[in-house]
Amino acid sequence: MAGPAPAQGQARATRKLLIRTWGCQMNVYDSGRMADILAPLGYAPTESAEEADMVILNTCHIREKASEKVFSDLGRLRETKKARAAEGRQTVIAVAGCVAQAEGAEITARAPWVDIVLGPQTYHRLPEMVARASRAAGAVIETDFPAEDKFDHLPEARAPQGPVAFLTIQEGCDKFCSFCVVPYTRGAEFSRPAAAILAEARQLAANGAREIALLGQNVNAWAGASPDGNSWRLARLLRELAEIPGVARLRYTTSHPRDMDDDLIAAHGEIPSLMPYLHLPVQSGSDRVLAAMNRGHKADLYFRIADRLREARPDLALTSDFIVGHPGETAADFDATMRLVERIGFAGAYSFKYSARPGTPAASMAGLVPEAEKDSRLQTLQALLRQQQDDFNRACVGRVVDVLITGTGRHPGQVAGRSPWLQPVHATGAAPVGAVVPMTLEAALPNSLSANMVHEESAAA
Ligand code: SAM
Ligand code: SF4
Repeated sequence: MAGPAPAQGQARATRKLLIRTWGCQMNVYDSGRMADILAPLGYAPTESAEEADMVILNTCHIREKASEKVFSDLGRLRETKKARAAEGRQTVIAVAGCVAQAEGAEITARAPWVDIVLGPQTYHRLPEMVARASRAAGAVIETDFPAEDKFDHLPEARAPQGPVAFLTIQEGCDKFCSFCVVPYTRGAEFSRPAAAILAEARQLAANGAREIALLGQNVNAWAGASPDGNSWRLARLLRELAEIPGVARLRYTTSHPRDMDDDLIAAHGEIPSLMPYLHLPVQSGSDRVLAAMNRGHKADLYFRIADRLREARPDLALTSDFIVGHPGETAADFDATMRLVERIGFAGAYSFKYSARPGTPAASMAGLVPEAEKDSRLQTLQALLRQQQDDFNRACVGRVVDVLITGTGRHPGQVAGRSPWLQPVHATGAAPVGAVVPMTLEAALPNSLSANMVHEESAAA
């Protein structure tokens, strides 16, 4: 879970706002934007529920466990709200994000102490909802897909994000994978215009961001109106972003194999600030399961993309997402996934047991895989993925790489940062947050790498 970015430049912060965020980086971005919208109303961030005049739970609906956690958090918040009320203090509780979108009615039925339920496409209306909630008796619910574009109604000013900033450029999904709720909770695919993205990126850079991660459920499907009146694809956008002074690093996530076009693959070899790292979910190595999942490609496409990316950028690290136990997945299908992993060699991956999501096509498919079998396949897959990640980290030892300083380390006299491959790095010495410092990677630890600074600070920008 991540908290909201601190609000900035507020003359009088009279109220406290707690935002709890689950799920993907797009939710982290949305939480920051909700804090930006509420800052002019006098809401300043807090980490304490007891202190908070307003609590927003920004939720994830991707797997069953994710939405259940929201209801247990709401149970605890009920007690906090009661205790504050006994002291004469009001608390506005809002549920935002994909659980709100999918289960709005259930939330107000199961947790009638919730004041606001809002979907991912309506959070630009928060100030109005807060005003209505303080007047209304029941909950205010806004889970439609409004005709207006929320990005046009968000404040231009963004609170400083630190050296690493997220920037949503694309939302929604038209691909309808069998297992996935995103097309229903986030709506149809939408690409923000290039001019708006470039303006936001310039502002982030001016506020100290050195690394910008472009976000979208299908980020490489981005096709946005360009300032020259044409439509650009992602490679062109990345080339333009790379020209912004101060932007030392670019990334984008999450991509779909079907949208890895030639120009984007070439961009990995041509844009030095585009980091040698790509998260490219494949889900399964079996063509039969990929077809049942409606992924729209075969394993062979993934192999070809990986080969071409590595030709363009030999040090590129690939990471991925996997689902085991999709309905109909046989032991032979699972073997095909293991063979894909062996052949590709991943630097990291997220892997999940299939979890049925109501309303998705897979939820009514035959051939359910028993829970114990799913557990055993997940363990087998995760053991291989962990070993590959360890191998990758160990192979980095001895290399000199640029590390972006993100803060202080756990021990006194240490700095913490991240490598081009997103590995957490710590080193003894001093360097300002936001500096890009060459370091020799010395040792691979379970969750990070230790390093020695080559110079105190590089001028690389
Ligand atoms: N758009 C991305 C793509 O096409 O791969 C993925 C978006 S989804 C937010 C993140 C990951 O959650 C997916 O890649 C998938 O592995 C996992 N996921 C989604 N639905 C799931 C389900 N019903 N059960 C288990 N894992 C799921
Ligand atoms: Fe979900 Fe598939 Fe769309 Fe990714 S591409 S968001 S997995 S429907």
